[in-house]
Amino acid sequence: MAASDTPIVQIRDLSKSYRRGSQVIPVLTGINFDISRGEFVALMGPSGSGKSTLLNLIAGIDSADHGSIRVGEVEITSLSESELAHWRAGNVGFIFQFYNLIPVLTAFENVELPLLLTPLKRAERREHVEAALNVVGLSDRMDHYPAQLSGGQQQRVAIARAIVTDPDILVADEPTGDLDRVSAEEILQLMDRLVHTFQKTIIMVTHDPRAAEKAHLIRHLEKGELSTN
Ligand code: ADP
Ligand code: MG
Repeated sequence: MAASDTPIVQIRDLSKSYRRGSQVIPVLTGINFDISRGEFVALMGPSGSGKSTLLNLIAGIDSADHGSIRVGEVEITSLSESELAHWRAGNVGFIFQFYNLIPVLTAFENVELPLLLTPLKRAERREHVEAALNVVGLSDRMDHYPAQLSGGQQQRVAIARAIVTDPDILVADEPTGDLDRVSAEEILQLMDRLVHTFQKTIIMVTHDPRAAEKAHLIRHLEKGELSTN
């Protein structure tokens, strides 16, 4: 099998519970899931069904109890905490519902943040930041603070921050959840372009049927298990 045919994400028998005092809350119970390179996947399901948990496991910001997750060539479930942090910085971009921008930093500085962890020089960082802000159509807002931007513009800055290190995978947790219809549509079109023009793989949690419509594949999470429709 050619490397490009190998799923970029391979999840095997993945389980995760949370503990609250003496109580164990099973969230994911034996998930198997393959995601192809360049795919746009929507993850749906009731509130509390474990969508964010699954997304965070794929992105390496939470750790599993059982099972494995392979992303590209790397079995992320067997990495140490520090190896995982290093892997994450170069391989995954995050997009959140409430943008998670730093209010005291400009759009430029917010997008530059992930690059401060790389060996890039200041001039090289500038080049990358400008390119990312150009992709999201905000070259003319670089010096604006988050509060001076609309919700849709803030989410575009957050997307620029997510792509500035050129990761293969983007994870998005309800990226249009706090946006009006027009801004949501712009964000979805942008995500679509990241898949088709920049060959990103996107895994998006959403409640919005219009958002899910943009995806190539919709998976539903319910009672710890994943199903196709
Ligand atoms: P969703 O994103 O589908 O709404 P989550 O993945 O956020 O669901 O949560 C799934 C379940 O796990 C919920 O019952 C939630 O209360 C519980 N949970 C999530 N994170 C934690 C945590 N850090 N500690 C304890 N329980 C948690
Ligand atoms: Mg959630």
